[in-house]
Amino acid sequence: MNSVDGSAITRRLARVRQFVADAAVDGLIVTHLPNIQYLTGFAGTAGALLVSPSKSRLIVDSRYVTAARALVSALPEGLVSIEPVVRSYDETIVETALREDGERIGIEAAHLTVARFNALSARLQLVPTERIVERVRMVKDASEVAIFREAARRLSAIARRLGEMAAAGLTEKEVAGRIEDAMRQGGFSRPAFDTIVASGPNSALPHASPTDRALQAGDPTVLDFGGVYSGYCVDLTRTVQLGGISGDMARLFAAVAEAQKAAIAAVRPGVRPSEVDGAARGVLERHGLGEAFGHGTGHGLGLEIHEEPRVGRPLAGLPDDPLVSGVVITVEPGAYVPGLGGVRIEDDVLVTSDGCEVLTDVPTFL
Ligand code: ZN
Ligand code: ZN
Repeated sequence: MNSVDGSAITRRLARVRQFVADAAVDGLIVTHLPNIQYLTGFAGTAGALLVSPSKSRLIVDSRYVTAARALVSALPEGLVSIEPVVRSYDETIVETALREDGERIGIEAAHLTVARFNALSARLQLVPTERIVERVRMVKDASEVAIFREAARRLSAIARRLGEMAAAGLTEKEVAGRIEDAMRQGGFSRPAFDTIVASGPNSALPHASPTDRALQAGDPTVLDFGGVYSGYCVDLTRTVQLGGISGDMARLFAAVAEAQKAAIAAVRPGVRPSEVDGAARGVLERHGLGEAFGHGTGHGLGLEIHEEPRVGRPLAGLPDDPLVSGVVITVEPGAYVPGLGGVRIEDDVLVTSDGCEVLTDVPTFL
């Protein structure tokens, strides 16, 4: 993210500050870099953000001080200040917290290493917190939705050419290279993850890495790829069968397409992600493919390729909060039958006030 939307940052920080106040801590140390980027626009490879109910300090080392000062000077006056690292990040966090906030400081339990926890707890009273920034990130604001629409439009344009890119005689690695080249030419800064091209028997492996196997006529081939556009990840899968869908694969294609359609139809505010998963799973079970669908139906998208909400079976201890307008998820059921092949179909979906908007726009069968 190069340009920073000051009003969006103001709203995001206000929400996080409210959570910090509710957690009854003097401040929160944000150490997960995508969370820091979300709250400040800063996209360096190291940094920490100390948020109290009244102020936010971005702690950066000498490599980043100049750039970070320029960044925060574009934000509303006083919203975020810069605290240069003295000696070490952890010492600077401790000194800043004790000088300006207090000793009772929240940490991001999912992200802080035990080593850092031990170092910081020598002088601070650390309070583990869960999902404070993640819950705010889950609901996209208008500027993020605009980026998603454009990113999905660009990814869809590439996906419509998958039929020609996945040509017989090319290896899986070559096809993955073609797709990644197309993403760079299409304005993406980088792939959001390692592109999956799984042909023939490999298509029955839900998370295969591209190999030197050459695609052959009749192969089902799962193509799962995504790109980062203006900092945000989009993600899409189509499965092609070289020479046309035929034989036993036709039943698999039809069942997965029906499952995906049912899951998308279930997406609206108030519905739990596990219910969206259940809609897809129910269809595949009716087709006798329950066992063939081993993964979840989808995941949230944002600055990271996998973020909240998790769209899967309800599991004790894992969040399953009802969807709200502004959440962006993938819907990607699949069925994988060893000896036959696999099919996965994935689109990106925005929850709207009365249902959903499918952001990606690609025919189901190519
Ligand atoms: Zn994917
Ligand atoms: Zn995905």
